[in-house]
Amino acid sequence: MSAVPSGLAHRLSVVVPSVTLAVNAKAAALRAQGVDVFGFGVGEPDFDPPPFVLEAAKRAIDAGAHKYTAVTGIAPLKKAICDDHARRRKQSIKPENVCVSVGAKHALFNVALALYEPGDEVIIPTPCWVSYPEQVRLAGAEPVLVPTREEDDWLLSPEDLSRALGPRTKAVLLCTPSNPTGAAYDEAHVRALADVLRKHDCWIVVDEIYAELVYDGFRHVSIAEVAPDLAARTIVIDGVSKTYAMTGWRIGWAIAPKELISAVDLVQGQSTTNATAVAQHAAAAALTGPQDAVEAMRKKFERRREAMVSGLNTVRGIRCRQPEGAFYAFADCRGLYGIESGGKRIESDDDVAFFLLEKAHVAAVPGGAFGAPGYVRFSYATSEERIAAGLESMRRAIAGKPSS
Ligand code: PMP
Repeated sequence: MSAVPSGLAHRLSVVVPSVTLAVNAKAAALRAQGVDVFGFGVGEPDFDPPPFVLEAAKRAIDAGAHKYTAVTGIAPLKKAICDDHARRRKQSIKPENVCVSVGAKHALFNVALALYEPGDEVIIPTPCWVSYPEQVRLAGAEPVLVPTREEDDWLLSPEDLSRALGPRTKAVLLCTPSNPTGAAYDEAHVRALADVLRKHDCWIVVDEIYAELVYDGFRHVSIAEVAPDLAARTIVIDGVSKTYAMTGWRIGWAIAPKELISAVDLVQGQSTTNATAVAQHAAAAALTGPQDAVEAMRKKFERRREAMVSGLNTVRGIRCRQPEGAFYAFADCRGLYGIESGGKRIESDDDVAFFLLEKAHVAAVPGGAFGAPGYVRFSYATSEERIAAGLESMRRAIAGKPSS
C-alpha cells in the first residue's frame, strides 16, 4: 500500500481512541470462535421499537418519503418534539427552536461546532460519556473535567460547579440520568445547580437521552423546567434511541434558542443535510403514538437493574451503587485487584475487563474510558436470564473455576 500522501489533520492528535473498541474487538473475536459472550458492554436497548413505529415507517416509504427534507427536520416531527417538550418539560417552544439530527450524538457535535472554539472551556462532570470530551477537543476547545464521587452519588455539587466556572467557560454539559453511572439529579439538586449557573453567563447543555428510564418512582426534572429564566442559554439534547429502542434509526435533536438553531442549521446544512426522511417519519410516530411500550420497557429495565445490581453486590471483590436511571450499573471493581490470572496480576479496570472477558466471557467497559478508573460499567440491556448466567460465570472465574 502506498504511503499516506500527507499528515492527518492536527485536530485528530488530541482525540483519544475508545478503549471500548478494544474490548469490543476482543469480544467479537471470541464470538467468531463460537464463544457465548455475555454482552454487558452494549449501550443500546435489546428491544425492538413498538410495531406501530415500524408500520409508520413502511407507510412513509409507500407514500414516497425518498427526498431531501428541510435540514432541521420535517414539520410533523418538529411539532411532535415541541409537544413532547411541552408535556415533559412544561416549556412551550416553536419548531424554530428544534433541529433534528442523525442521533443525539450528531446533535451534540453540531452544537460543539456551532459554539466552541479555541480558548473556550467546556465543563464536563466525570465519569462521563466518552464522546463529550472528544467532541469538545475536535471543536478546538478544552474540556474541563470535574470529578464527581461515588459518596456524592456521582453528582456534581453546586460548590464544585461554582469552583470550575471561570472566564473561559463557554458551556457546562450535564447528563441526567448519566451514562455511565446511572445517577440522576433530583429537583432540589437541579435547582441548586441552576442557582449557580444563573450567576455565570455560559451555555447549559443537558443531555436527557435517558430521561424516560428512571426507577423506583424517581422523577426526572429538567433544568429547562425548573429554570425557564435560563432558556436563552439552555440547550436540551434528546432523541428516540433509548426511549423507543431506535438506536439504528439515528434520530436525535437539539432544542435551543432560535439563533443557536440557525447556527446548527448552517453546520448541518454543510455536512449531512437532513436526517433520513423515513427515520424522521418513524420518530414522529414514536412520539405521537401510544406510550405504553415505553413504560413496558422501563418496567423490564427496572427488574433487570435489580438483577444486575443486587447480583453484582454478591460477587466477591465487586461493589455496586444502586443507580436511579439509564441501563448501566457502575461497579467498584478494585476489590479484584491482586487476583492472579494467566501469570498476570489484575491491577487496573482494564485488567478487570479483560479478565472478565477472557475467563468469564463477560463483556463490560472499564471505567477509565469514562474518566473513573477502578470501576467497570455493566449494561443491563439484556434479559434477566442472561444477567443471572453472566454473573454466575463471573463468580466462577473469580473463584478460579473454568467457565462452564
Ligand atoms: N448521550 C448519551 C449519554 C449516550 O449514552 C448516547 C448513546 N450511547 C448518546 C447521547 C447518543 O445517542 P444517539 O444514538 O441518539 O446518537
